[in-house]
Amino acid sequence: MIKLEDNLGRRFEKLRISLLNDCNFSCVYCVSEDFGNVKTIQKPVTDQPLSPEEFAKLIEAVHRLTGLKSIRLTGGEPLLYGNLFQLIDHIQKIGISDIRLTTNAYYLKEKASKLFYAGVKSVNISVDAIDKDIFSKISRHPNTSRVFSGIEAAVKAGMNVKLNAVVMRGKNDSQIIPLLDYATDLGVKIRFLELMKMGHLYHSENGLFFPEKEILDIIQEKYAIENIQREHAETSNYWRTSGGGIFGIIANESTPFCHDCNRLRMDSNGIFYGCLSNAHGEKLSAYMDDDFLLTEKLRGLLRLKQPVKFHGSELSMRNIGG
Ligand code: SF4
Repeated sequence: MIKLEDNLGRRFEKLRISLLNDCNFSCVYCVSEDFGNVKTIQKPVTDQPLSPEEFAKLIEAVHRLTGLKSIRLTGGEPLLYGNLFQLIDHIQKIGISDIRLTTNAYYLKEKASKLFYAGVKSVNISVDAIDKDIFSKISRHPNTSRVFSGIEAAVKAGMNVKLNAVVMRGKNDSQIIPLLDYATDLGVKIRFLELMKMGHLYHSENGLFFPEKEILDIIQEKYAIENIQREHAETSNYWRTSGGGIFGIIANESTPFCHDCNRLRMDSNGIFYGCLSNAHGEKLSAYMDDDFLLTEKLRGLLRLKQPVKFHGSELSMRNIGG
């Protein structure tokens, strides 16, 4: 294994894979208003993502040179990827046992325990409101109650569950305390995310941005909080509340976390990205059997990382998986 490190000592240790672009939700921070109305969301999967074997070849090549510690499967909605369990099996065989998932949990109720026994021990679930009307407006989906049964099934299956809520001014900032209390009652962590300038929000956040400070102010109106030491390459800062809960804030704007970023990304077409804030991607399939050239390509991707903070990207969250 070669020393693939940049001048800040950053390495690629975590690979995030967007398995497909399709999703059964159309969250307002992920796809634009004119993406289409609710009725079209249930259409069958259209883009042709790579097969499990094609994904596995690329993962194996990158792992051989970087020694990946974990893989996160995202999307679109990864539970819509038809060959998910074959892919998980391939990843295990490559020797990477830390396999994680980011999902909207709509299909999780039926799959949680099978995923757990297949090796997926950790899941991040997007839940942007407790109020069903607010949640439906944000996700542009008529039935968000399945998300909650999916969350509860994941907890029951023994998965390490973390909830993610993107906070938007005037849309769901009223839900910060209900979400925190829901997570605390369930015994899971919740992270509140500052809006990211991605895709259709790249040029304008339309006044939706809600900063870390205001999230903390709202929580401290109800609870005393205590900061928890941040772990290496962690995107979130965490706090313990006097109500027995643990919450985090992923503040790409207010408290940037690029200085020790260790994330590499691959989209559903096998294109790799060194940084979420840089839309330049590399198709590495041509270099899989040439370690020298593959190393140079990975080194080039590492050089794309931001020195301090995320600046935004025209890439849509849906394509690159966040
Ligand atoms: S903007 Fe780039 S360098 Fe910064 S945390 Fe995101 S991926 Fe890492």
